[in-house]
Order: sequence, then structure tokens, then C-alpha cells
Amino acid sequence: MSANYHVAEGDQNALGQYLVARATSCSADRRPHLKIACIHCGAEYVAAEVNFHACKCPSCQNGAGNLLL
Ligand SMILES: [Zn+2]
Repeated sequence: MSANYHVAEGDQNALGQYLVARATSCSADRRPHLKIACIHCGAEYVAAEVNFHACKCPSCQNGAGNLLL
């Protein structure tokens, strides 16, 4: 179940989250992953199975996602 069907690279949501890239996971579950950047703090993170339009930055908005260091 993906809510991101109409989401394209370069889109930005109302929370200031910018979609850098879409990628399909290499893991067995093959879930789609989104690479997202936050325009507020510059953090980049990867989130899986999220609704991009409601996505929050894990660094400055207490959202879900795995920060890329
Ligand atoms: Zn942020």
C-alpha cells in the first residue's frame, strides 16, 4: 500500500520535505524507499512506507526516518 504513487522526484510537501530520490529496497521485502531532504535543517534521510505528503523530518520535526550521516 503506497500513498506515493503521484509523488515525483523534486516534489516538496507542505512540511518542507523535499523528495531527492525514489529507490526500491534491496532487502527481501522490496518496499519502496524515499530519500528525502529537509529544507529547514538540511538533514537527509531515508523513509520507507511513508506518506510523503505527511512526512516529517526526523531531525527537526520529530518524524520517522533513518538519518543519513
Ligand atoms: Zn529538518
